[in-house]
Amino acid sequence: MPKKIKKQIKEEIALPKGTFDILPSDEKYWERVENVAKNISREYGFVKIETPIFEHSNVYLRTIGEATDVVEKQMYYLKTKGDKLVLRPEGTAGIARAYLVNGLFEQPQPVKLFYFGPFFRYEQPQSGRFRQFHQFGLELIGDQDPINDAEIINILCEIFNKFGVKNLAIELNSIGCKLCRPKFKSALLKYYRPKVKNLCQNCKQRIDVNPLRLLDCKEEGCRKFIENAPQIVDKLCEDCKNHFKLVIEYLDELGLPYILNPHLVRGFDYYTKTVFEIFYEDSIENHKPNQLALASGGRYDYLVKELGGRAAPAVGGAFGFERLIGQMKKQNVKINDLFEPEVFVIQLGPTAKKKALKLFENLRKSGFKAAQSFGKDSLATQLARADRLKVKTALILGQKEIFDESIIIKEMDTGVQETIPMEKLMERLKEKLR
Ligand code: AMP
Repeated sequence: MPKKIKKQIKEEIALPKGTFDILPSDEKYWERVENVAKNISREYGFVKIETPIFEHSNVYLRTIGEATDVVEKQMYYLKTKGDKLVLRPEGTAGIARAYLVNGLFEQPQPVKLFYFGPFFRYEQPQSGRFRQFHQFGLELIGDQDPINDAEIINILCEIFNKFGVKNLAIELNSIGCKLCRPKFKSALLKYYRPKVKNLCQNCKQRIDVNPLRLLDCKEEGCRKFIENAPQIVDKLCEDCKNHFKLVIEYLDELGLPYILNPHLVRGFDYYTKTVFEIFYEDSIENHKPNQLALASGGRYDYLVKELGGRAAPAVGGAFGFERLIGQMKKQNVKINDLFEPEVFVIQLGPTAKKKALKLFENLRKSGFKAAQSFGKDSLATQLARADRLKVKTALILGQKEIFDESIIIKEMDTGVQETIPMEKLMERLKEKLR
């Protein structure tokens, strides 16, 4: 094939930017993280929910907010025969939609749900930031008690701790409610209006459509204004103040290391009261702003109502698999292989090959973790494979053994071998391996 065509085909089928394959060498991380997160969530009374990967665009337009980066720049719209569908950019809005359309509000409240799956955002890819990424999230819907906010943060930290990712810094803030936020927005506008000439292009737009997002700007030129910007805690109403105070008291009770960040806002409009981000830090004193968060979340008391339901106060949070697994690898967290065979069946000659098939089935059904490479006929190759798999015991079946109805058991580490009658094999393996 001419080189030019070869190159063309390669580009046509290359991975889309910002995506990656999860290869077998990484599967153990993904499976263990998912299982541990599920088990811990179940211990706290959460149950699993799965929602579709695409939804009507209104699910997000009505909730995340039209003037947010995710809705304005990052949603993938699907080309369909008429429906306005998008690939889900986050989990919470879809779960609130499911809570509503499935009548979960009729069940005893709160409803405690967890989910796992891929999400999609048109981002500028970099390490820890992808266009298809995976989140594990928790949503507790139908209860306004601040103890729930602390519980969500605690569960996320427990999941990280389980993998040895222990040095965590929790950034925490309250962004108020419909009552107190307008007062804060006015204070913010009063502060920013005289500076508008010096703001970046995005912030110039934000000032009119979504002033809270001014506090989330990552541009160097705008960051210096954030430092002296008004703080929402000074403007919180009594209810929001008490709520926030209790969240902090519960975190204290749990011994969780938080940092109050009075300028923390989040990328979605649906948040009310508590917002948080969780970072990995060598030590909490070293905490640097603007790193990528391992997890984030907050309270969203109006979201279900915004979708058309009765008001259902709620709180949730999610972590990104890519970032947690990246951190685990950096810390050299050891994860065992998902399948670690203990016996290896070696066959020599056509008759032994046939008998080995059945032997492998019997071993597997008797509960032994067995391996083979029946496509290879040489003894050396099969032994080398057994060695690579680090099995303890190899079972060797040759012409002589078939004739004698016997089998050789070889200890891989010492090389010691014994020949025993085939009918005694299972019993002998139980003695050796159990
Ligand atoms: P968010 O839905 O933006 O609150 O993000 C929740 C968590 O998902 C973050 O703390 C990250 O761990 C992860 N996350 C969000 N966006 C991405 C992305 N583009 N690539 C990888 N992980 C992400």
